[in-house]
Amino acid sequence: MRKRKDEVKKMKLRVVYEPKGRAGEYAPLALNLYRGCDHGCTYCYGPRVLHMERPDFATAEPRKDILDKLLLDCETLNKSGRHNRIIGKTGL
Ligand code: SF4
Repeated sequence: MRKRKDEVKKMKLRVVYEPKGRAGEYAPLALNLYRGCDHGCTYCYGPRVLHMERPDFATAEPRKDILDKLLLDCETLNKSGRHNRIIGKTGL
């Protein structure tokens, strides 16, 4: 398991990432497509982590060049021979 995580980390993906901790129990890979979130949870630490003001964080927008970055990540993962089943679900 550790070796697999190190291999994916070395790929230097732009959008796709391996969830850490308990979040990794749901899926081996996840996507980070947006910057911000409009759910407005009062306990959210997202704005602090991203060094954003809370009102700015509350307006979720697609990250810059998100589709190009996602396509590059999919190509990298497919070339590695890993996660083919997950990437196939994106339809890219
Ligand atoms: S990112 Fe923050 S505001 Fe959005 S759902 Fe998660 S905790 Fe709530």
